Amino acid sequence: MQEQILRAGMAHGRAFAHIAKFHPELTSFRRDLHAHPELGFEEVYTSARVIEALKVCGVDAVHTGLGKTGVVALVHGKGHSAAKPGRMIGLRADMDALPLPEHNDAAWKSIHPGLMHGCGHDGHTAMLLGAARYLAETRHFDGTAVLIFQPGEEGFAGARAMMEDGLFERFACEQVYAQHNSPETPLGVIGVTPGPMQAAVDRIEIQIRGKGGHGARPNQGVDPVLVAGHIITAAQSIVSRNLSAFDQAVLSICSMQAGNPGAMSVIPGEATLVGTVRTYSEAIQQQIEDRLTQLCQSVAQGFGASAHVIYERVYPATVNTVPEANFAADVATTLVGAERVWRNMTPSMGGEDFSFMLQAVPGAYLRIGQGAVDGPGPHPLHNSRYDFNDDILPLGAALHASLVEQALLWG
Ligand SMILES: [Zn+2]
Ligand SMILES: [Zn+2]
Repeated sequence: MQEQILRAGMAHGRAFAHIAKFHPELTSFRRDLHAHPELGFEEVYTSARVIEALKVCGVDAVHTGLGKTGVVALVHGKGHSAAKPGRMIGLRADMDALPLPEHNDAAWKSIHPGLMHGCGHDGHTAMLLGAARYLAETRHFDGTAVLIFQPGEEGFAGARAMMEDGLFERFACEQVYAQHNSPETPLGVIGVTPGPMQAAVDRIEIQIRGKGGHGARPNQGVDPVLVAGHIITAAQSIVSRNLSAFDQAVLSICSMQAGNPGAMSVIPGEATLVGTVRTYSEAIQQQIEDRLTQLCQSVAQGFGASAHVIYERVYPATVNTVPEANFAADVATTLVGAERVWRNMTPSMGGEDFSFMLQAVPGAYLRIGQGAVDGPGPHPLHNSRYDFNDDILPLGAALHASLVEQALLWG
């Protein structure tokens, strides 16, 4: 049923029709990766399988060792070669899994206890491989496709590691595109937004130092737990009182460590709060960092304690460039029709290290729906029962391939 609807919606897609013929091979490749999940920079099995499959596909070159386990494959269009690559378009897939136990019972369940592909990067890798095969078999484009298989998206900044190893100096991509599956989005819907698509991810740690003592005589110490309570409350005033209602930001304190649960009458000397800040603009990000630092120090000082704020910028915001986001939406429309392309998809407060690539090269990050035909899927990303929906493999592969064909029009 789902398969029929997908096929019906893609009657005009030459790439889709071609790739659909090897849907079964893509499915078994995806399921094999799913059974062998690996964490960031440890994707040894995964990249070996990718390299092997790329060679079978007939790509023109395979480069390894970018960002440790990253792989880059090149496919030259008609009339092009290593000596004359022409214009280059980058397509990126992430390959890593999560430190999460899998609670699915499928035949392709993870064989590594405590690890699973809970974000669908197995599917992203298979979709890009499908594009590689199609592009190598057809070559209906004027230039070179640069297929980027990236390690360590889940907090390891694998995109940045590949760039530090010269990704865009060696392969001078004019534009770069990536897509992420979305269980919340109906099957076959493609979403993209000009501008911010994913938030900047910052980690905050607030170290509060007081003076420990007896719980019966708090007057002799400085209670860091009380200070922590005031800081938690005060920190919520930053988004609600310092930012405009039209600015978007989230500040969450997600962990509080102080004292010992077995010591009911010991006031600890220290308390630590850990949380995250999510923003779309650097000006707002800086404002929150400055305000949080001042507020924590001042609140602590008011109680005779001290606070030290460690503000770590993990991933920048993922900001699609406007012409490339609109172009990607146009390409998606040729595949699935205008009614299934969401051109102003609500951005996410989640993070994504494709942001580093978009800081260097124009491009866009897209969402591809893998939920039910008319609604969300059963399990969200990063859930122990999540699984990638193999129905979208040909569509995702065709989207990648069509971006290259349309950006590098031939003939
Ligand atoms: Zn994830
Ligand atoms: Zn992901």
